[in-house]
Amino acid sequence: MNTLEFAKQKLTEVGLKATQQRMVILAAVQQSKNHPSPEAVYEKVRVNNPSISLGTVYNTLDIFVEKDLIQTVLAKNGLKRYDGRLGNHNHIHCVNTNEILDFEDEELNDLVLEFLKRKKIENLDIRKFSLHIQGEKIDEKKNIKIH
Ligand SMILES: [Zn+2]
Repeated sequence: MNTLEFAKQKLTEVGLKATQQRMVILAAVQQSKNHPSPEAVYEKVRVNNPSISLGTVYNTLDIFVEKDLIQTVLAKNGLKRYDGRLGNHNHIHCVNTNEILDFEDEELNDLVLEFLKRKKIENLDIRKFSLHIQGEKIDEKKNIKIH
């Protein structure tokens, strides 16, 4: 199944009409590995779809977040970046290069879950968590498993 067909199926599953614009915007976010900003999504889709406006991209991304098709990752100054991956994972945000990278580490996840369980936070049933680690990029992929 190609990415557009996959996007069409996902849109239909959540009860959204699978218009061409929605399909290409969803596919663009899902294909992207670097957590794109709305502007980056716009730049990518307008190449083959010149009639799409930036406003449409903004609105469509908001609808997708509301429908749990994608998620928001906050970047510097509260600017939104989007993530096509919904499973539990953490992020490393390099503030000097503005890259946002997925960071998966089972040991870290186990430690956090264990910690939270021990803290017994009242009146809260923890569903998921995600760490947002900020730093300055020094050396490429130095000692950390980045996917
Ligand atoms: Zn991510």
